[in-house]
Formats: sequence, structure tokens, C-alpha cells
Amino acid sequence: MDKKIVIVGAGVAGINAALKLVDNGYPGELITMIDMGKDPYNRKPEEVMCGFAGAGAWSDGKLTYHTAIGGQLSKYCGEEKAMELMNQVITNFKRFHPKPEEVQCSNPDTEPEFIKPYFGLRLFPVWHVGTDYLSEIAKNWYDYLVSKGVGFQWETKVTDINFNENSLGYSSLPVKLGKLKPLSYDELIFAVGKSGIDFAQQLAQEYKLPDEPKSVQIGIRFEAPQKHFQKLIDISYDFKLYRKFEDKGVSLRSFCTNNNAAYVAVEETYGDHSYNGHAKKDEAYRNDMTNFGILMEINGIEDPFEWSRNVVKKCQMLNTGLYYSPNIKNSASKTSEGGKVSSYQIVTAELDKVREAFEGYFEYIEDFIEDMKEVFPTLGDEWGMYIPEVKYLSPEVKVDYKNLALVDYPNVHFVGDALSARGITVSGAQAIYVAENILESK
Ligand SMILES: Cc1cc2nc3c(=O)[nH]c(=O)nc-3n(C[C@H](O)[C@H](O)[C@H](O)COP(=O)(O)OP(=O)(O)OC[C@H]3O[C@@H](n4cnc5c(N)ncnc54)[C@H](O)[C@@H]3O)c2cc1C
Repeated sequence: MDKKIVIVGAGVAGINAALKLVDNGYPGELITMIDMGKDPYNRKPEEVMCGFAGAGAWSDGKLTYHTAIGGQLSKYCGEEKAMELMNQVITNFKRFHPKPEEVQCSNPDTEPEFIKPYFGLRLFPVWHVGTDYLSEIAKNWYDYLVSKGVGFQWETKVTDINFNENSLGYSSLPVKLGKLKPLSYDELIFAVGKSGIDFAQQLAQEYKLPDEPKSVQIGIRFEAPQKHFQKLIDISYDFKLYRKFEDKGVSLRSFCTNNNAAYVAVEETYGDHSYNGHAKKDEAYRNDMTNFGILMEINGIEDPFEWSRNVVKKCQMLNTGLYYSPNIKNSASKTSEGGKVSSYQIVTAELDKVREAFEGYFEYIEDFIEDMKEVFPTLGDEWGMYIPEVKYLSPEVKVDYKNLALVDYPNVHFVGDALSARGITVSGAQAIYVAENILESK
């Protein structure tokens, strides 16, 4: 037990790795965590992405407990192990929760009959930690790790890593200290999350790290009065309808449902407009609308990033995205700030241009909507869609599945959102998996 372990990123992944190590007797003095944000006593609520507890575990605490949600885990370690690892993450939240009895699990377990003929409905348990307790949990985690001797470097950004010499360069963000002496490591856990994605890509390019093939994730944002979906919302607030065309390499899902005070948001990426949605909590914003993405995952496209960029580009008119409703009296709705959602309204005849842009895949979305009209019979033509919605997936580096280490650098482990996770439970679970491997191999 004399290996020096450096963890870059003190988000939920980094923390779970450190907890696993010290819980199993690994000397905390040999572990250093570096984060460009602040410790949990100084981190402000508005610092959403950076600092102790990382992104979601600081601002939102829904712990999904299913291997089909939140990114990839069972791909590396199998279904059973994945569930066991996620359970460890949930236990780590409860164990440091000031009122563990208040952690609630919602677990809808029956797919309603009216959905079945047309769609699958993804049902999965979610543990609700309670947003109000997150910063207290973070402080308890932090105090525990400090008591075990773990070292922390705050407001320190890792700027380069020399995988060949096992050392990393970093700068103290308060300008006065500037670049610090390189730090060496025996094992490196790279857990930089979404806020470190550019850095991860920089390393991938510098070291020509091989990556896993990625799928395209593209579709539209659908919007309609909430009343048409209420029957399903009562069963599952953030419902996930899905269907799969295995032989075509295409699957579709409804994604990120917003209700009650639901607004469509414009995302500007690479100078083009695409769409997303969000919900306001304040009753003053209630508009009784529902919006959700209808996203296709398309496999087998050679350059998914370039392909998606082209589709998005072709779905722009007058420097913005498109809005379509079969009822021409409908138009784009208002944003939460009161303006119109930026979009160019097209008529039915112009849908051909969209079909062309999607190169034959748009009909899957049209079928999905047609079938929603069967399942929710009051919907009729009372809906609109914003075109396109897109998720540009960053390349996922190739790792050894047994310890998530880079294939050419077996002491460098990628975990959490920096690898293939998209949620708290999976991120923490990947990190525990790595820590278990380090403990076994010591
Ligand atoms: C507002 C919001 C709400 C969310 N809600 C949920 C939810 O309810 N449930 C859920 O499952 N998921 C949620 N997510 C997603 C979830 O937050 C992430 O999947 C999860 O945080 C990933 O954990 P991570 O440890 O990999 O990365 P992060 O939590 O992002 O942590 C990465 C850490 O690395 C640090 N870092 C980055 N680059 C560097 C660098 N170069 N040098 C030093 N430090 C660096 C950052 O400061 C950060 O603290 C939410 C995300 C957001 C933004």
C-alpha cells in the first residue's frame, strides 16, 4: 500500500474512489485530490460545475438505480456487478446524510396497458436525496476524508499530464501563485467531469488515445399542452417512452420531460441553433405545457459528429432553427423571460427539406409522433416541434474494461462523465470499480 494516488476532480466520482480506498485501509496520506473549484465550506451554490462534490451532487440529488440510465457501466463489469457498485454509491450518500431516513426511493413498477401496444416505458428506481441536504453531505464526506489524511488542493487546475513520466502540471487559479512544480503519481484517477471535457479531448489528441465508436443522438423537441399527457405524467413525471429498430441500428426515446412550467430553450452550438427544455419551479411561471426531446440514437454512421453538425446546419433558416406544427394557427411558445423561442416557422410542404437533411431518419420521428396520437387520443394536431435537438457526444477513450485504465497507460484510469457516464450513480460506481481494482492489485 505504498502507491501514490492522484485524483484529478473532486466530483462524485473522485470522492467515491477516495472513500472506497480509505474505507479499506488505504493510507489517506498517499491520496491527493486536485480540483479547480472550492472546498464544500467555501463553494457557493451558484458554482454549479466545479468544486467538492462536482456538478449534480452539489445542485440536484436524484440517484438513478438502473444500468440503462446515466451512461455506461454494465458494458465494463456486467449487469450484476454494476448494480452492486451503484448500490455502494447510494449507501455512501445515505451514510453521510444528516437524516438518512428521509432518503426516499420512487420505483414505478408496472408499465401501463395503454402504452404497451406502441411504446416501451422505461421504469427505474430513483433515490431522492433531497437538494437541501447535499451541501451537508458534501461537508461530511470532506471532513471524513480529511480525518483519514487525504490531501486536497483547491482552486488548482491540472493543465497537462505526462503519461510517460507519470507526472502532471498544474496551476493555482488565484493568479498570484501561478504554475506549480509538477506532481508525480503511481496511479492517476482522471475524474474531471463535463467541466474538464476540453482537457480530456486535449489529452486524447496529444496522446492519440484510441476511442470507442459513438452513435449519433439527434431529433426534435416536442411541445404540447400538458393535459394530453397527464395520464402518463401521473405515473411517471419524467416519463421515458422508447422503441428500438435493432436491424436498422436506430432507437428512439423521449428525453428530459418538463411539465407544469415547461419552457423550450435555444442552445447555440458552433453558431447554429438547436433546442432543449427546462422547467421552472415557481408557480408564477406555470404554463401547463409539456415538452420533451424525441431523440434518435443512430449507430453505424462513420463520423457521427460531422454528420450531426451537417443535419443541424441544414435545419437552420434565417440564422435560427425551425418550428413546425400541423396546425398553422400554432406558433412557437414563449420563453420563461417572455420573448418568443427563436425559430423559423415552416409549413407542411417544407418538411421535405427536413426529411432530406435527416437523410431518411426523420420518418422514425414522424412515426413516433403518429403513434403518440394513438396513445394520447386528445393530442390531435395540438402540438409543435422545434427542429433540431442534438447531443454532440464527446469521444469516449478506449479503456481496459477490467480497471478503466487507458489501453496504453495502465496506471491512468478514466472515470465518471470524463469516460462514459452521464449521471451521479454511474459516475461514482465507475470510480469505486477502479478503486477496488487498485486495492486488489496493490
Ligand atoms: C445542474 C445539474 C444537475 C444534475 N442533476 C443530476 C441528478 O439529479 N442526477 C444525476 O444522476 N445526475 C445529475 N447531473 C449529472 C451529474 O452531475 C454528473 O453525471 C456527475 O456529476 C459526474 O460526476 P463526475 O465526478 O464525473 O464529474 P463532476 O461532478 O463534473 O466533477 C468533476 C470535477 O472535476 C473538476 N475539474 C475539471 N477539470 C479540472 C482540471 N483540469 N483540474 C482540476 N479539476 C478539474 C471540476 O471542478 C469538478 O469539481 C446533473 C448535472 C448538472 C450540471
